[in-house]
Amino acid sequence: FVIPEFVQFTCKIEETFRLCSENKDGKVASYIPQLAHMNPNYWGVSFCTVDGQRFSIGDDNIPFTMQSASKVLTYVIAHSELGAERIHSYIGQEPSGRMFNELVLNHNRKPHNPMINAGAILTASLLQNLVRPEMRHCDKFQWITRYFKRLAGGMPIGFNNAVFMSEIEDADRNFALAYYMKDNHCFPEGTNMESCLDLYFQCCSMEVTTETMSVIAATLANGGVCPISGEQVLQSESVRDALSIMHSCGMYDYSGQFAFQVGLPAKSGVSGVIMCVVPNTLGICCFSPPLDKYGNSVRGVQFCKALVDYFNFHRYDNL
Ligand code: GLU
Repeated sequence: FVIPEFVQFTCKIEETFRLCSENKDGKVASYIPQLAHMNPNYWGVSFCTVDGQRFSIGDDNIPFTMQSASKVLTYVIAHSELGAERIHSYIGQEPSGRMFNELVLNHNRKPHNPMINAGAILTASLLQNLVRPEMRHCDKFQWITRYFKRLAGGMPIGFNNAVFMSEIEDADRNFALAYYMKDNHCFPEGTNMESCLDLYFQCCSMEVTTETMSVIAATLANGGVCPISGEQVLQSESVRDALSIMHSCGMYDYSGQFAFQVGLPAKSGVSGVIMCVVPNTLGICCFSPPLDKYGNSVRGVQFCKALVDYFNFHRYDNL
């Protein structure tokens, strides 16, 4: 086993989990009512190792939407289907150093990276127009959902239509980003901007639990082979690139500090999710809705820091 003393390991996790429960800081995202109504006390953590050992604690079966954590999945799927060169002729690999939804492109007039909104909307357009372009939009949605499900080893992936609808009702910034990119000829030819935005919001509105998301994180930790099903879902080069970008860009404007202090690739979302990957070892998902000023789950960040303090999971521990 990759974690031989699993019971001792989970005892320490439980202790860390309890410690973080006491933290009442942060505010639940309020830009749409569906998120604002989330119970701030929800707190769940799940683990899945690359050899399929699993452990969950707290609210591990409360559904929440993936939000920005879906950006990793759409990127890695587009990457697996199209290859690095093709996808990065449209999108950069550099942290933007700006807000995730800021109206800004890099010096080459491309989105800075696929983890911010501009980059993820563009990724949606690549999935829509370059990957199996003959598919109808309904079939493409189903195809992507199935892909997500394969990453999760067949665990359930839901869809929250109320979140999807309210994302669309409050989409001015994302429309502005898309128009700005259209004006700068960022999209592949033949793009229908509205349907790309739809696909982007649909991916943000995919619904999971910490258990499901920890298996997805473990698939990434395992180079694209799902530890539950044994299926090679992604190309390992694509996973390597996705983890690199998560490492530098996954935690909003806290990405540099997170990389410094925790030293692990991670991606957060406004629902309060953090998906964190310990390469070749395990996948972690934390869920707690109250967010800090950067938009990261307060308890989730605290948990990841405590974990690394204790277990030496930081990439540059043990040198
Ligand atoms: N649906 C959100 C948006 O596009 C995602 C925000 C997030 O999780 O960062 O604004």
